Amino acid sequence: MTRIHNFSAGPAALPEAVLRQAAEEMLDWHGEGMSVMEMSHRGKAFIGIAERAEAALRELLAVPAGYKLLFMQGGAIGQNAIVPMNLLRGRGSIDFVDTGEWSKKSIKEAKKYAAVNVAASAADSGYTTIPPRASWKLDPGAAYVHICSNETIGGVEYHFTPEVGGVPLVADMSSDILSRPVEVAKYGLIYAGAQKNIGPAGLTIVIVRDDLIGQSLPITPSAFDYKTVADNDSMYNTPPTYAIYIAGLVFEWIRARGGLAAMEAHNRAKAAVLYDYLDSQDFYRSPVARDCRSLMNVPFKLADEALDAAFLKGADSRGLVQLKGHRSVGGMRASIYNAMPVEGVQALVDYMRDFVRERG
Ligand SMILES: *Cc1c(COP(=O)(O)O)cnc(C)c1O
Repeated sequence: MTRIHNFSAGPAALPEAVLRQAAEEMLDWHGEGMSVMEMSHRGKAFIGIAERAEAALRELLAVPAGYKLLFMQGGAIGQNAIVPMNLLRGRGSIDFVDTGEWSKKSIKEAKKYAAVNVAASAADSGYTTIPPRASWKLDPGAAYVHICSNETIGGVEYHFTPEVGGVPLVADMSSDILSRPVEVAKYGLIYAGAQKNIGPAGLTIVIVRDDLIGQSLPITPSAFDYKTVADNDSMYNTPPTYAIYIAGLVFEWIRARGGLAAMEAHNRAKAAVLYDYLDSQDFYRSPVARDCRSLMNVPFKLADEALDAAFLKGADSRGLVQLKGHRSVGGMRASIYNAMPVEGVQALVDYMRDFVRERG
């Protein structure tokens, strides 16, 4: 068996220890004589798995009292519609901060349900910056303010939590949740698809403040109404049981490594290996402004893009895969989520050095 270094943006690498445990438990989970996949979601064994996963996630993120933690489906893209349906609460407009491809998707979907005010945009910088908070033109009557904490495609990340007054702050944290501690109390709602830093695709995490629940638009599908989901302990419809089980193992893995402060230290050290190299030479470069570089997704460009194909081919042959950048940005992108070991990033930088020696 050979495990390679997978730099995919998502679905992404999972901790090897988690996959091994899942493999061991595949046919017979803890003497139940069946796989978690085969269990009733109403049975004692699975309810225990889900309760422990929720408790572990609450502990990791230090979710304060007064917030519901929901296990949903439909992905972050689903939440782009589900959030406005639930959070408009009689208000007519939503404030957005536009920092790239994922913000743009959220904005486009929200326009089906409400007027949208783009309070600030990084379009002028080619989405290589986060607009400073002082430049945002917020509407105090908005239903909420939406940000994307980490733009997976462009590789820009917030390194501050914006203060937005009394209007609820909503964040798409799909690609940086669990990479560092979060001040949950500063948010009205946080959502994230699981397939970057949590577990398998198919599970969506929503953390929502209690007072924002229960005022959904009448057209809201019951399965996507936060109140229905919360009242039924995320089991109004059959939840993605296996994804919840794996997510629970990932939460335990993070806890065993010291929690989110330790993850952040690990992620900073890991990202520095790549950024320090990028900044030390001029064959490759990072297009992103230094103060908003993502610790999770690192786009970079070769000085001569005619060498892109050869770079990718050589990387593949060394077991460094999924490095091609998103078509909207071009170049390369290394996604280095929690599960990527520092050895993987070091192997990438070693390869980048060798490539310059051969082709530079
Ligand atoms: C991956 C991603 C999404 C899309 O998630 P789906 O699960 O495909 O709906 C949305 N937002 C961000 C920031 C992402 O990284």
